[in-house]
Amino acid sequence: MATTASRSQQIIEQAQRYIPGGVSSANRLVEPNLVFTRAQGAYLFDAEGRRYIDYHAAFGPPLLGHCHPEVQQRAAEAMASIDVVGVGSSELEAQLAQKICEHMPSAEKVLFCNSGSEATYAALRLARAVTGRQKIIKFQGCYHGWHDAVLMNVISPADKVGQPDPLSAGMLPQAIENTLVLPFNDLAAVEQVMQEQGSEIAAIILELIPHNIGTVLPHQEFVQGLRDLTSQHHAVLIFDEVVTGFRHGLGGYQKALGVTPDLTTMAKAIANGFPLAALVGRADLLDHCRPGGDVFFAGTFNAHPASVAASLATIEILERPDSYPHLFDLGTRMRDGLTAMVQRHGLRATVAGFGSVFLLYFMEPPIESYEDLLRNDAETFVTYRRALIKRGIYELPVNLKRNHISLAHTAADIDESLAAADAVLTSFS
Ligand code: PMP
Repeated sequence: MATTASRSQQIIEQAQRYIPGGVSSANRLVEPNLVFTRAQGAYLFDAEGRRYIDYHAAFGPPLLGHCHPEVQQRAAEAMASIDVVGVGSSELEAQLAQKICEHMPSAEKVLFCNSGSEATYAALRLARAVTGRQKIIKFQGCYHGWHDAVLMNVISPADKVGQPDPLSAGMLPQAIENTLVLPFNDLAAVEQVMQEQGSEIAAIILELIPHNIGTVLPHQEFVQGLRDLTSQHHAVLIFDEVVTGFRHGLGGYQKALGVTPDLTTMAKAIANGFPLAALVGRADLLDHCRPGGDVFFAGTFNAHPASVAASLATIEILERPDSYPHLFDLGTRMRDGLTAMVQRHGLRATVAGFGSVFLLYFMEPPIESYEDLLRNDAETFVTYRRALIKRGIYELPVNLKRNHISLAHTAADIDESLAAADAVLTSFS
């Protein structure tokens, strides 16, 4: 008897026929291969109508929740009165740039683009231009986008740690050679390289919290040390706050840490799901990118009105006094609940996170760098998440990926998720 393919199956087959792998981004094809047809607030709905509490959150944008009505309305209003003009200054863009400068410690001026990769690309080009140097330093475990200068050494296999680990064929060998990769939180390693090659280093770029490997908290002295070393050697310090910007505060995580870089990159949550990124920082540096300046910066869709309006609405909502307390309280509720569960079940597991970010590693502390995370039991990590998905809790079933809570999540959502986690962990212990 012929069986009819499910709606999901039909969509997957059509996508795979016309799109390589059926997806448009490297980390989207994971098992189980689900098709989501609706996203609302804290929830995703698959093509069969099943509901999932969403903690993947598209790697972080929907900080206020999916399809937030105020954000959507403001974006639609903007687009109804003006779409893409492509010449001159725009009123909303100017307002947004001012707002960001008021909130972000390092922001004296702002340039808008569309994705985090574009922002880090521009930041590194600018750093090379103003220093006249070629080399950059990044850290093992940090991800800064898909371009050649930084697409290396994120989740490296053990035998690739400590050597160049490019993530794609076709990258320029010169780009790989000019990127030095060091261990996170290891100031002595950076000091040594700066001592030997400081006059050749254009920039140090880092995720302030390397969320691309879950959550590794930076030592304040490490970040302050990077600030001191880059100043001393006239290199540019770049904080990649693509994940942390707005999520951990309107001033980014740099405000909490009390260290100010020369340049900051932001994306993801800043427009709650609309494509928008920003390169912000010292005015004397960003002014190189003005039209006619020596550093070229451009893009047809830069500062797109829908995204800019969405970002202004997002900021207004985040400025409300209850917003961050709600995000941080739910994060604490989740982490505390998981910690109690790990103890009760006597598991070799560690709860990590900050603010609205959380995850459960299947390993014991300490977790200070990527090298420590090689001890994580990747198989159990993925098995645990696949079991949660069966229970309607969506955490991306890929090793070391973080989870995000949004303003739309409620204490009841967290408790429902904790109950599901308890059921899964019971079967593990
Ligand atoms: N920097 C960081 C810290 C990121 O997490 C990402 C995306 N995961 C990027 C840069 C690149 O951003 P995009 O995917 O928007 O190009």
